[in-house]
Amino acid sequence: MIRRLISKKVIAKCLDCKKHWEESNAQDVATIHAKKYKHKVLIEIHQYILYDGAKKEKSTPSEEGWFKPLNAHLWHYFYNCRSLCGRWYYHKELHKSPLLEKPDGKPCGTCIKKLEQLKGNI
Ligand SMILES: [Zn+2]
Ligand SMILES: [Zn+2]
Repeated sequence: MIRRLISKKVIAKCLDCKKHWEESNAQDVATIHAKKYKHKVLIEIHQYILYDGAKKEKSTPSEEGWFKPLNAHLWHYFYNCRSLCGRWYYHKELHKSPLLEKPDGKPCGTCIKKLEQLKGNI
């Protein structure tokens, strides 16, 4: 089962007195600071998707799709450089072929099942 959790990190900086905050309440603290001292604050919100426990930037559409590795008999569905059935890793540097929306041949049964689960969870 593929877990997708969104993790948020807030970094706030004051452009006037150079203070900075990184706590979970950084946004509120910086807003109060800005009002109190009439300073300009910059708030950056970073969002990550936690995928199988690993921290990754949000995937772009080109990192998701069907692909047939050179020595594979079946087409596998790749998401964040890994096939859903867990048998294959996709290295952009090694395989320049694009990922497809539909398999161009016989697809892997496990990948189809996992893909249905994944789409159902969104
Ligand atoms: Zn300040
Ligand atoms: Zn597969």
